[in-house]
Amino acid sequence: MTNPAPTSHQTYPCGDCGAHLQFTPGTTSMTCPYCGAQQAIMPQQREVVEHSYAALGEKPRRNPEQVPPNLFVCTGCQAHTESDAWSDLCQFCGSPVVVDQFNPDLIAPEGLIPFQIDKNGARHALRAWVASRWFAPNTFKKVDEAESLKSTYLPHWTWDAKTTTTYRGERGEHYYVERDGKREQETRWYSVRGTVARDFDDVVVPATAHVGSKPLADLADDWNTHTATAFQPQYLSGHFTQRYEIGPDTALETAKQKMTSVIRGDVRRHIGGDAQRIHHMSTTYRDLTYKLLLLPVWILAYLFNGKSWQVLVSGQTGKVSGERPWSAWKITLAIIAALIVIVCIVYLMYSEQ
Ligand SMILES: [Zn+2]
Ligand SMILES: [Zn+2]
Repeated sequence: MTNPAPTSHQTYPCGDCGAHLQFTPGTTSMTCPYCGAQQAIMPQQREVVEHSYAALGEKPRRNPEQVPPNLFVCTGCQAHTESDAWSDLCQFCGSPVVVDQFNPDLIAPEGLIPFQIDKNGARHALRAWVASRWFAPNTFKKVDEAESLKSTYLPHWTWDAKTTTTYRGERGEHYYVERDGKREQETRWYSVRGTVARDFDDVVVPATAHVGSKPLADLADDWNTHTATAFQPQYLSGHFTQRYEIGPDTALETAKQKMTSVIRGDVRRHIGGDAQRIHHMSTTYRDLTYKLLLLPVWILAYLFNGKSWQVLVSGQTGKVSGERPWSAWKITLAIIAALIVIVCIVYLMYSEQ
């Protein structure tokens, strides 16, 4: 196997002391972590645009697993690092490295949402989330004190489409009958067919397989993608950026599933009546467009009972989503307490008779 060629990448030296500037969440500037010097990030003249899916063609970029990792040569210490990341910190000297030439076999990010929430804000959101979870073990409650929060841009696809759906089904109308002196509900069914249309804008689909899919899907419905700015490498400096692992074709299938569940609701409303049955739906998608966005997430990963857990904090809104362990003894205590209450109620009921 041939070694990957060094990837062209950028660092942003501080004009005052020569250290490397990093993007500061919640601002539009980079800051020097050593001397505090600031440098504004010039806004891009370019707008974020959607790309035609039909024009994507049969390019190798559809299959990200086959694309070799990047090789970074650190400008701070000259160390060579192989990485699937688009931005990272040098393992040896900690200098930020940001890719500035994307592998032509991959689709380059169109835009990004810069971090709005800084580390303190993320920790704050996390603490509130943990505090509201009574069953979480105490070790988990201490976890937010650890320095394990990592600011990471995660790749996401967004999809637009104009859809038309024809359907066949049944409309149910309730009526009531007297049976043995009781009023009972029955339903009369009428067969129906029809057509509904809906335009979708920015259906968000995660493009990473490394992060828990459930918490990520949870956040996917929370992003305000219309605030995304055109891609600018400066925003990645000092933060980790993952390159996409889920290609556009797989992501499109997921996007269509999300659209279908919305369309299903449209069809039910269109059928009307008291109850609906859908027997068949056929959807055509026109003007399919996509773009690749880098979205800001604070990731907390920790070990508990030999299992690794992940909690995500949106770097845009501070929304927290994650799996959490349940504490065995706290649950046992809760069950015992509930049993005691039941015994007391039963005792009172009998003593009153
Ligand atoms: Zn400096
Ligand atoms: Zn280095």
